[in-house]
Amino acid sequence: MAQKKTKQARSKAVATVRKSGGARRAKAPQPGGAGRGTDPARVRAILKGLDEAYPSATCALKHDNAFQLLIATILSAQCTDERVNQVTATLFPKYPNPKAFAYANPAELEKEIRPTGFFRNKTKSIMGASKKIVEEFHGEVPKTMEELLTLPGVARKTANVVLGTAFGIAAGVVVDTHVLRLSERLDLTKNTDPKKVEQDLMKVVPQDRWILFSHQLIWHGRRVCVARKPRCIECNLERLCYSKDKTN
Ligand code: SF4
Repeated sequence: MAQKKTKQARSKAVATVRKSGGARRAKAPQPGGAGRGTDPARVRAILKGLDEAYPSATCALKHDNAFQLLIATILSAQCTDERVNQVTATLFPKYPNPKAFAYANPAELEKEIRPTGFFRNKTKSIMGASKKIVEEFHGEVPKTMEELLTLPGVARKTANVVLGTAFGIAAGVVVDTHVLRLSERLDLTKNTDPKKVEQDLMKVVPQDRWILFSHQLIWHGRRVCVARKPRCIECNLERLCYSKDKTN
């Protein structure tokens, strides 16, 4: 009788393992996900190092209000902030509000923003977003991620820049090319897709640090942890970093 019960229990266990995909599948390595270096003490040390190096990091795009920041951020895709600032210095006085951009002459606007690259698409985005702001948001830049994402040419990165810098709302983490590279080098993520990297960073960095953290990583990526040959000798995070890209 006891032998029969043991046999029944074993069959039941085998069936359960099969149903759940089996022990082997559960142990298989998962691609992506948070990096090994996400231990809270290590993340705190990284944040402290960034605070020491860049206590007042902020957005380098010149703007006087949320709408100008939105336009400057759209223009900054695949372009340096310096070049965008040069272009907006004459653009913003000529187009002082959303209505002026919404009903601009597209050929003229294309010519004016040409130095920032991808000028045809950027003109469509700027005019489309401005029109929607005028017609659906009473001329004001919306303050929620959901609403911002309905504007033409606006994805999470742009929406996070506007919400964080213009409104002080920490809805997410700005993931640009610098944040992407540094998050990988600092082993805060195993993902490469910006949306997934943002989710990983939101899990390991406290929400009240999201806005400043993005600016600090961007500054560090521009000044020290540059793409081709990071200046590790000048880096105050060096003892916390075990990236394969490290230089001597
Ligand atoms: S040690 Fe080098 S690779 Fe690591 S974060 Fe600093 S500059 Fe970047």
